[in-house]
Amino acid sequence: MRILVSGASIAGPVLAYWLTRHGFSVTVVERAPTPRKTGGHAVDLFRPAMNISEKMGVLPRIEERATGTNRMTVHQESARRPVRVDLSKIFSAASDRHVEVMRDDLSEIYYDAARGDVEYIFDDSITAISPDGEVRFEKAAPHRFDLVVGADGLHSNVRRLVFGDESRFSAFTGAYLGVLTLPNISALDGELLMHVGVGRTVGMYGARHLGDARALFLFRSERELDYHHHDVPRQKELLRGAFGGMHPDVDDWLDELDRTPAFYFDSITQLRMDTWSRGRVTLVGDAGYCPGPAVGGSTSLAVVGAYVLAGELARAGGDHERAFPAYERAMAQHVRGSCAAALSAAKTLIPTSRLGVRGLAQGARLISALPAGPSRALLRLTAKSARLYNSMTVDDYLPLPTASRGRDRLAGDPGGGLGVG
Ligand SMILES: Cc1cc2nc3c(=O)[nH]c(=O)nc-3n(C[C@H](O)[C@H](O)[C@H](O)COP(=O)(O)OP(=O)(O)OC[C@H]3O[C@@H](n4cnc5c(N)ncnc54)[C@H](O)[C@@H]3O)c2cc1C
Repeated sequence: MRILVSGASIAGPVLAYWLTRHGFSVTVVERAPTPRKTGGHAVDLFRPAMNISEKMGVLPRIEERATGTNRMTVHQESARRPVRVDLSKIFSAASDRHVEVMRDDLSEIYYDAARGDVEYIFDDSITAISPDGEVRFEKAAPHRFDLVVGADGLHSNVRRLVFGDESRFSAFTGAYLGVLTLPNISALDGELLMHVGVGRTVGMYGARHLGDARALFLFRSERELDYHHHDVPRQKELLRGAFGGMHPDVDDWLDELDRTPAFYFDSITQLRMDTWSRGRVTLVGDAGYCPGPAVGGSTSLAVVGAYVLAGELARAGGDHERAFPAYERAMAQHVRGSCAAALSAAKTLIPTSRLGVRGLAQGARLISALPAGPSRALLRLTAKSARLYNSMTVDDYLPLPTASRGRDRLAGDPGGGLGVG
């Protein structure tokens, strides 16, 4: 059985790994010309995603690449003294298994885990999928697949081709985010430096092994802003407008907007779909159920979703008419919980009042000042996402000992692969 996956970031490579372990033949098509290595932004793996990574044998590599951020300094707008917080205590209180890692490091590790068994095609994209599985590409020749999975992120191409325009499924949460790569001008080592004001929060962090740093900007806007997603100068202008004059540190970071090698700007949008599957096509990760970038644990959700989808396909012997509904049932509660937790996290992270600004700084300080037991209890009471990730249960989908690896099957398949990868 031949499965095509679109997208090689987090959900795509994890799905490809597990599908090959269950004996399916997998091709992954990725729009970027090579696996991304620039770092991206920091993402979180919570307990269920850590467990899945452990089963894949990649956990030691992930832990080796952890960002190592363990302290946070919070400057509240119009408060004189910053608050210092022990982040490692917050992380351990939030989840008994957690690691923060740069997204592109994680992506590379998952890609390496199955690259020998999967056909990877970079620098290409799907242009059409017919109901019988005939797929057309921008560059490669058309090819027939039994199933197609969109793992191509919040602005998924597969979702657009099969379900229609993104605007039908996206819900604006009232906030925007921007990320820029900049020199580590604040000389951060294991520290997150934050500035928080009413309706705006910005944090700068590095990672142990990265020479540079990232500044993550989050701000509220009641109305959707007027800009085109390709109009980078306008996006930078919007960021300057939202954060200019907040603090001399922040002005220094904004100055880097003219020089940054990597810049990202988007609305914080949640996807709301009744179903992620149609015919032979389904969606996984942010493509199907993004709870909102930077405010939910969507990386963990993507890893769990990929593992569950592969497992349900194996359980159903490749029968997608049984597997896709079972996958959706298994993920529905996790997705609902993540969406609710993301909205609540956005409220805390981008406070709407001065009380909220104080609450964020003082709450973090209180939790970090308490011994591990009470701080964990307090966080469980206050943080939806901590409760959610600690209680997420995932079935064990162990591959049958007879399941062969995908690449072997591909070689013996008279139809062959696309001949690339
Ligand atoms: C600024 C920012 C901060 C974030 N912070 C956090 C955090 O702190 N914690 C957390 O857990 N999560 C965070 N996230 C979210 C996290 O990055 C995503 O949830 C995670 O990467 C989802 O993985 P994915 O594989 O589903 O999608 P993505 O990582 O978005 O990957 C999609 C892949 O599909 C490819 N693609 C796109 N279009 C096509 C096409 N037409 N054809 C082929 N390939 C295509 C892309 O190049 C990419 O490789 C953040 C996101 C952003 C943007």
